[in-house]
Amino acid sequence: MKNSGSCLCKKVTFEATAFQGPVGHCHCTMCQKFHGAAFSTFVEIKLADLHWLSGHELLQRYRADNDTVRSFCQCCGSSILFESKYNRVEKTIEVALAAFDQHQHVVPDAHIYTESNPPWYEINDNLPQYHQYRSGDDVNN
Ligand SMILES: [Zn+2]
Ligand SMILES: [Zn+2]
Repeated sequence: MKNSGSCLCKKVTFEATAFQGPVGHCHCTMCQKFHGAAFSTFVEIKLADLHWLSGHELLQRYRADNDTVRSFCQCCGSSILFESKYNRVEKTIEVALAAFDQHQHVVPDAHIYTESNPPWYEINDNLPQYHQYRSGDDVNN
């Protein structure tokens, strides 16, 4: 199984040997700004399972007021990484699923932070939707 990924300019390349779950589509405003899109989809990976093949030094870290860190390629601007306090404790990091070079057999199971989903994007699948983080406030219930 090969799970290699790269940024748009291909200077940042990496490989993952295993994924952790679950994977959700995040509609929070910070992910919208970071991705330039209606939502982000990150997959959690143990730091020990993520191997940098090139360009790690090109990743620019942006630390937000809520102590989350998002990293992007300085050269092409591709959104690559997300980490929160949770990830730092668990020794994991979240990698943008769309940065992988092959379609991954990862099945997202929810939409989160749908309270900030933009009106121009209609969520029309049957996955559970949470106003904020997964916490039992599934708005489909
Ligand atoms: Zn790049
Ligand atoms: Zn988000």
